[in-house]
Amino acid sequence: MECGKPARSPTCRLQYISSLRCVLQRRLHMSLRRVTIFPVRIVLYFQRIHKFSAFFASSIFFIGRWVELKQFYADLHVHIGRAGGKPVKITASRQLTVENLLRQGAPCKGLDIIGVVDAASSLVLDEIEKMVARGELEEVPGGGLLSRDGVLLILGAEVETREGAHFISYLPYLSSVRELQSFLAPRVTNLNLSTQKIRAGVKEVIAATLNLGGFFCPAHAFTPHKGAYGCWVNRLEVGLGNMLDQVDVLELGLSADTAMASMIGETERFQFLSNSDAHSLPNVGREYNCLALNGKSFAEIQLAVAGKEGREIEANYGMHPRLGKYHRTSCPGCGHIAEGEPPVTVCEVCGYQRVVMGVLDRVYQIRDSPVSGVRQAYHYRVPLLMIPGVGPKLYERLLAGVGSEIEVLEKASLGAIEEIAGKKVASYIGKMRCNQLSIVPGGGGKYGKVQKHQGDD
Ligand SMILES: [Zn+2]
Ligand SMILES: [Zn+2]
Ligand SMILES: [Zn+2]
Repeated sequence: MECGKPARSPTCRLQYISSLRCVLQRRLHMSLRRVTIFPVRIVLYFQRIHKFSAFFASSIFFIGRWVELKQFYADLHVHIGRAGGKPVKITASRQLTVENLLRQGAPCKGLDIIGVVDAASSLVLDEIEKMVARGELEEVPGGGLLSRDGVLLILGAEVETREGAHFISYLPYLSSVRELQSFLAPRVTNLNLSTQKIRAGVKEVIAATLNLGGFFCPAHAFTPHKGAYGCWVNRLEVGLGNMLDQVDVLELGLSADTAMASMIGETERFQFLSNSDAHSLPNVGREYNCLALNGKSFAEIQLAVAGKEGREIEANYGMHPRLGKYHRTSCPGCGHIAEGEPPVTVCEVCGYQRVVMGVLDRVYQIRDSPVSGVRQAYHYRVPLLMIPGVGPKLYERLLAGVGSEIEVLEKASLGAIEEIAGKKVASYIGKMRCNQLSIVPGGGGKYGKVQKHQGDD
């Protein structure tokens, strides 16, 4: 019979007495046990309280962190034209200095976070260190540097590996960039210049980046000019092998969007960044990302690109692919830009075979089973100066009246825009926000443009 469950029937008296004895014995045993293990129990009791309070505190902490997630606008691919009075990116504007970028470029555009991809240039790194010494920049505990205007500077290095494609290493601290320089110095011709060809393979760059606490990103991944999918491989899985697991994020590039990238099934594993790849101040922020972070630091961005702890790349804001310079295949022979069904791999007019592949045509050429899941939103944007009717003077007036370019493009009421810029400009911006602008496609190195409304000059 089961101990502790006495029988109630009088016909089972013996069983009842036996069970009663069993119960009494059990209670006595329990009392003795209580006495003997009392000190242990006290310890356990406090441990339990401690565990509960730890759980309670961590819950509050987690909820607090969750609640505190805010949206930040970030452009993580900007070049530097000059530093220390010398050229860094030869093809970039002389006005594009670290100081101008942080004081004018980012605040005018409304960007909270700027990634400089020439930070491993000795000239740029020296300049940033001098700014830290002057108190104009301050290293943030989680990585990155904060300017006096509150813009977070993220340090990056774009390199061209042996594979002939461009990749970006993002690193947390000035000390980590110095260490990356030690890796790069014996492998490049001139450490002062931007986007150097390095005598190393992509896997070595990934390993070096991760060892230094950074994250790695294929740059403008779909462009035929130095993009990983554009000029190197059909599948990153083939090129990177088991190192693919170390890559969380891809940069789409100006001529690609989420829909195009999603035609390649393996991109399901990546988050997407849309950055400007600016070579001049006006082009800073022509593409940007909205990040959900708990404050501005490298560590927070690293969580967002990995999609961890609630941090995320919430949305991409990019130029319509048709606006990009390499959207469709173009012919160097006769100048024709492809119009037919993609992929166009031979000139449709003169039959020339050595065409410059368009991004759309290249994606169609290598596509496989498309990604079916829901992706982060991609919003089509047109830089304010490409909106018909917006010249430099009106641009200044709009910024003075509304605050920043992102404010004009995203948040300002169309009524407020109309008051400053008139009905036509407000109407273009309204259509852009709903993705209803018609675009004349670019190609062959020329940007596309917004189709003007009938009757507009
Ligand atoms: Zn590049
Ligand atoms: Zn670049
Ligand atoms: Zn042709």
